[in-house]
Parts: sequence; structure tokens; C-alpha cells
Amino acid sequence: MFENKERTELGDLGEFGLINHLASFFENKNASTVMGIGDDAAVIDNGGSDYGLLTVDAMFEGIHFDLSFHPLKHLGYKAVATAVSDICAMNGTPTQILVSLGLSNRFSLEAVEELYAGIRLACDKYSVDLAGGDTTSSPRGLSLTVTVYGHVAKDKICKRSGAQEHDLLVVSGDLGSAYMGLQILEREKKVFMEQPNMQPDLSGHEYIVGRQLRPDARMDVVQTLAELGIVPSSMIDISDGLASEIHHLGMHSGCGFDVYDEKLPIDPQAVTQALNFDLNPSVVALNGGEDYELLFTVAQEHYDKIKSHPDFTIIGHATANKGAYRLIGKSGASFDIKAQGWQHFKG
Ligand code: ADP
Ligand code: MG
Repeated sequence: MFENKERTELGDLGEFGLINHLASFFENKNASTVMGIGDDAAVIDNGGSDYGLLTVDAMFEGIHFDLSFHPLKHLGYKAVATAVSDICAMNGTPTQILVSLGLSNRFSLEAVEELYAGIRLACDKYSVDLAGGDTTSSPRGLSLTVTVYGHVAKDKICKRSGAQEHDLLVVSGDLGSAYMGLQILEREKKVFMEQPNMQPDLSGHEYIVGRQLRPDARMDVVQTLAELGIVPSSMIDISDGLASEIHHLGMHSGCGFDVYDEKLPIDPQAVTQALNFDLNPSVVALNGGEDYELLFTVAQEHYDKIKSHPDFTIIGHATANKGAYRLIGKSGASFDIKAQGWQHFKG
């Protein structure tokens, strides 16, 4: 194990290359580990009718958030919501969280209380219990790591694998808003740095800024799917961007996807701001990330139920063309959907 003689740059491997590389050195020893590395959450079988689900998400100051515009209360909420989102992606219900904090002496008790006020709000919203965590000092900045435990009925679990040719590709909510919200916040920060007497102007941008600062996990979608009697054939949450998650579903399911450009659900505020920033709204929807919406596939028989539901948009379908992910424009011209996602180790 780990017998590399030469230095290999992490940037050459990329995030997923690195994870796959590390995973290849491990084998599961416990029969209860039904599924380990590879999906939105690990799947654990402790007997009974439900599987246990386990996932963790880390957030670091300077990488995942900027405290000059991210209120601590919203940050606490976001850390829990984004971790819970991975349980939703398995069609599961979260029950407990653990919170690990890295703190420097820059933070006061009042600041940490503010952070935890957000964590408590999220615990109430998703009905989860703060069951523990860890607190350490951090030489620089704030780090926040949230582990979530949850469960799902064995016959209702949704993995990234399972999409079949002709299945409908569906997304909840809208895409690209969180990314455009971030662009607005960064622009206003820059203006403020240059002219400190200027107040940030966020009016008219409340929705997209809110999507960046205080996203929600789509637990309501998990409930809606149950009420509609639909178990998606595959599902993932959109953290890195629609394009990247389409690749994940296709790779795990062994299929391709045709996606229709005009169907991409983009909020009018996000469209307006994308155009103001000289960005193509579809590209923002595909690559923006941090939407925390659910992307899933369902059998065609569910078409009527999905089509008429305001929370859902059918954006395309699965094809037998393994590994081919196409964005089809109004004219019929098609483009390859490239997975950009977050390039953690680049630049
Ligand atoms: P998500 O975006 O849904 O949180 P990730 O892309 O972060 O998923 O992770 C994909 C898979 O790789 C998950 O199963 C996750 O648990 C696993 N994983 C990520 N980082 C590591 C790591 N450092 N060691 C082991 N497994 C990891
Ligand atoms: Mg995920």
C-alpha cells in the first residue's frame, strides 16, 4: 500500500480520482456495511426493515464560506442542511447529527452561540438531534464538520445506480440561484472594500442571496415522493452542479442522459443576474453548484404525477448510450455536458 516512489500532484488526480485511489486500499470487514464509499451516504444493515444511513460534510472558512458576508447563524443552518441533503438523496430520514468545530481565539462565546442558534434552527426544521461532536482549536479560521445518521426503509432506498433507459430525469426546485447569489455577494464585498462607506445593495436579489447563504435540504421532496407513491430508480443531491451529478448518475447506473436546455428550471432572478454578469443562464444552471436540490430518475409510468407537480421539472431522460450526456438545444443541436463541479485541488 502507498508505495509511490515519486511525488504525484493531487491536482492531477482530482477529487474523485483521489477518493477512488484511497478507496481501492480498503475492503469492508463487516457484513453490516452494505454500501461504503461511492454514494451520497454509506448504507448500514443492522437488521430490521430499515437501513441506517451515514454521511459527513466539512466546511472550511476561506474555501466554503466567507464570514465577511456569511452570517454565523445562516452558516450553522447551512452546515446542517447541506449534510442532511445527502440523507435526502438516499430517500432517507435524518435522526441524529454530530458537529465538529475548529475555532480560533478570534471567535467569542457570542459568535459561537450565533452559529449554534443556526444549528438549532436546522435541528428543529429537519427534526434531528444534536447528539455530540468535537471541539478543537484551529490556528486559522473556522471549520465546521457535520455528520448525519439517518434511516430508510429497505425497499425505498435510492442509490446513484438504478436508472434505466427511458426513465425520466427529474429535478426539484430551481438551479443556479445559489451560484448567482454568491456572485452578487462577492461583487458587493468588492464594492465595500473599495468604498467602505457604501452599503451593500442586495435589494431585488433576496431570493438568490438566500439560496446561497441559507439553503435547505429537500426533506419535503422525500415526503412528497412517498405521498405520490414514487420510489425513484436513482437519486443524488446537487452539491457540485447539475452537470457533475448527471455524470455520477450515468456512471453508477451505466446509462447516458439526454437533457433539454429549455427545460432547465432557472429562477427569473438568477436569469437576470446571469445575463448582467455576462453568463449563459444554462451554463450557470449546469455548473453553478450548491443548489442542494434532488436529481432523480423515475419510470415513465409516473409521468402524469411528476409532470403536474409544482416542485418537479422533467429535464430529460436516460438513454442506452452509456457515458453520453447531451444537452439538446431548441434547434435540436446538442452539446456534451462536461462535469466541471468543484475542482478542489486545482489552482
Ligand atoms: P457528496 O458530494 O454527496 O457529499 P462526495 O463527492 O463528497 O459526495 O463523496 C463521494 C463518496 O466518496 C461518498 O461516498 C463519500 O463518503 C466518499 N468520500 C469522500 N471523501 C472521502 C475520504 N476522504 N475518504 C473516504 N471516503 C470519502
Ligand atoms: Mg451528495
